[in-house]
Formats: sequence, structure tokens, C-alpha cells
Amino acid sequence: NKITIAIDGFSSTGKSTIAKQLAKHLVYVYVDTGAMYRSVALYALQNGFISADHFNQEALILQLPKIELSFKFNGDLGYAEVYLNGINVEKKIRTLEVSSFVSQIATVSEVRKKLVEQQQKMGEDKGVVMDGRDIGTIVFPNAELKLFMVASAETRAERRYKELITRGDEVKYEAVLKNVTDRDYLDTTRKDSPLIKAIDAIEIDNSLLSIEQQFDKVLELAKK
Ligand code: C5P
Repeated sequence: NKITIAIDGFSSTGKSTIAKQLAKHLVYVYVDTGAMYRSVALYALQNGFISADHFNQEALILQLPKIELSFKFNGDLGYAEVYLNGINVEKKIRTLEVSSFVSQIATVSEVRKKLVEQQQKMGEDKGVVMDGRDIGTIVFPNAELKLFMVASAETRAERRYKELITRGDEVKYEAVLKNVTDRDYLDTTRKDSPLIKAIDAIEIDNSLLSIEQQFDKVLELAKK
């Protein structure tokens, strides 16, 4: 019997690594909801709705019907990549620039409403592993398995820093650490669907576990 697996937690806690492995192993669909918020942030940046000194929420809200997000499975990568109005934006949404605006975008209720509706549709047939901030609380409150991933800010920033450097982005560790803690703050204090652990979620601290150890633990939970 297929189930719904919700994986929530703070930024860069390794949610997507575990979610992808789990989906591959169980032959489930993996949905990266952060990629959806990141795509909306990219759209807002490209259209000049947000910058370091202004955020034109009304303009973004008016344009929401024109933002079409989709996922297409990439066999080489083994997971689905995100498309913004038909264009693959998987690489563009991972920059520190998008990371530094996305949590502001995610505070807008109209944005959340649109994305949550699409996420619920994508998961309606079960057999889905979805990662994000509000999956176990808002998107699928009835998910059979809910995980909540935590790790120290330094562990998370180091991981994200290595990823960005490996991609060839010029970033400073301090800037990445600041981004991680800024997003924690915005994600936990926003009015609409703040990041909180669902009461029935199982907490996993991954600063203490290797990826293999985490995977074994999670797989065991998924099979229960
Ligand atoms: O998971 P990722 O780090 O890519 O998410 C980027 C940002 O999108 C988060 O910091 C958060 O502000 C927002 N987000 C959200 N709800 C989700 C997924 C992501 O608010 N379900």
C-alpha cells in the first residue's frame, strides 16, 4: 500500500537528499516544494518585483495566474526538475541570490495558497515523498509518515557552502551562514503556515548521523 511521506525541517538539513533516496527506493514520486517557492522568487526577480530595497507584493500577486510550474523527470539525474513557464530553471533557482529572496516570497499568503493547491494535487494518489516546511502540517496533515529534520546552523551552512562552491559559485561561508539563519527566522516567524514540527512528526537530527544511517532509519519507519 502506497503512503504519503512528508519531510519538513529547517533549510539545508538534508531533506532533499533523504527524500530523493527514499523515493527512488520505494518507486515513489519526489516533490521538492522548495523548488516551487524558489521558482516564484526567480520570477519575481526577473520581473523586478523584488530587490534589496523593495518588494512589490501586489504586482506579484496580480501576476500569479501567469506563473506555471511543472516537474519533468530527468532519467540521468533520477529525479524531476522544475520548469517555470516551460523553461528548466533547476540551476537558476539554487543561487545565493534566489536563496536570499525566497523566504520573503514564501510569506505571501496568495503564493502559498497557489503552491499548496498544486502540491495537494500532485500527491492525491499517494506514493509521494514531499519535502518542504509545511508538508506535515498544512499540505498533507494526514500523511502516514512525517519526518522533521534538524541540524546545527553551522553544519547546514557548511553543507550549502560546499554545494555552491562545487557548482562554481563565488560565495563566502559567512554569507551562506547568514542566509541559513535569516531563512530560519523568516520561516519560523511568518504569519501564514510558519515552520513548526507537526505533533506526530518524528525528529531526525542529522548532524549526528551519516546519510546511510539516516536512510536506514527512515526506510525502517516507512515500512512500518
Ligand atoms: O527547501 P528550500 O531551502 O529549497 O526552500 C526555500 C525556501 O522556500 C525556504 O527557506 C522557505 O522560505 C520556502 N518554503 C516554504 N514552504 C515550503 C518549501 C519552501 O515556505 N513547503
